[in-house]
Amino acid sequence: NKLCPEIPKVELHAHLNGSLSRATMLQLKRYYADVGITDTSDAFLDEFQIGAGDTRNLSDCFQVFNIAHRLTRTPEALAMATTLTLKEFQEDGCCYIELRSTPRETPFMTCRQYIETIAEAMRNNAHLPIKSRLIVSINRTSSIKEAESIAELAISFHKQYPDIIVGIELSGDPNVGRFEDFIPALTSARFAGLKVTLHCGEVCNPQEVMEMIQFKPDRIGHGVCIHPDFGGTEETWQALCKSQIPVEICLTSNINTKSTPDYNSHHFKEFYKANVPVIICTDDKGVFSTSLSQEYRICADVFDLQPAQLAKLALNAVDHIFAEEERKAIKEKILNFINKNSL
Ligand code: 5GP
Repeated sequence: NKLCPEIPKVELHAHLNGSLSRATMLQLKRYYADVGITDTSDAFLDEFQIGAGDTRNLSDCFQVFNIAHRLTRTPEALAMATTLTLKEFQEDGCCYIELRSTPRETPFMTCRQYIETIAEAMRNNAHLPIKSRLIVSINRTSSIKEAESIAELAISFHKQYPDIIVGIELSGDPNVGRFEDFIPALTSARFAGLKVTLHCGEVCNPQEVMEMIQFKPDRIGHGVCIHPDFGGTEETWQALCKSQIPVEICLTSNINTKSTPDYNSHHFKEFYKANVPVIICTDDKGVFSTSLSQEYRICADVFDLQPAQLAKLALNAVDHIFAEEERKAIKEKILNFINKNSL
């Protein structure tokens, strides 16, 4: 398991504002001080992290993102946050990342400028070993009209930045809003060539899980309440197995938000056994004080996976990245690692 930081890994489920490390947040605070904009007090930074023993649950978690949002409200700060986060993932052995973020209008930028800023920051970092792409997020607490305008923006930016903007996703508080209301926006994005991933089954709602699986997204996130032992039904579980939709698994996130009681009873075990394609991801590495290599290590320790099986998880994840043109080179990187370490 000492190999975890060294395995070339792919990250497919990371929310930008949830991924800000304390070091990045402090750097952003210094930037605001330098340009003379008042910002949050240091005390707020302590509330950003949600550990295992925290009394806050999944619904409460959505408040903490406001802390990060205050720190990414100018284009300069957002670009810095993007660059610093990419570099942190790279230092952790990640060779490809799909960052996702919800376009937000702030006193300093429009939603259009928000996407443009992240896309430009990614382009400016294209020389780094880590390859990056952007997935545009729709928050399910937003109105249908807002969702449609975000989808339109994603479509127009996909045309302008086909090398950067590859997908669209649905996230935000799963207890608010209905998936069906977002189908038209997601469908138009898909029709324009964007891949789709959906936060699915974070809370017990078998009917919505069925609607999502029937929509045939390219991937889903979490999938906590799909197996009958975890709040799903036999129908949702069979539908997922049959669909072979890859699932972005976020172990620590599910534990720390109390969606899952402990690592041992995480649904990863059932998914892995049933050959549902799984991808180990971090979700919000800043909020949950984790890293991608730590998630791999936890997965190995808890589910007794050998280094060869871990490397295979990384290798298989490559089949599900949205930038199809990057797959070959990344696979070669991982295969070289496998051969070099005789796994
Ligand atoms: P941002 O999109 O602002 O870069 O990242 C933070 C946002 O991602 C949150 O406001 C929330 O909408 C979404 N998000 C982050 N983590 C989770 C999660 O675990 N579940 C869901 N459903 N949404 C999340």
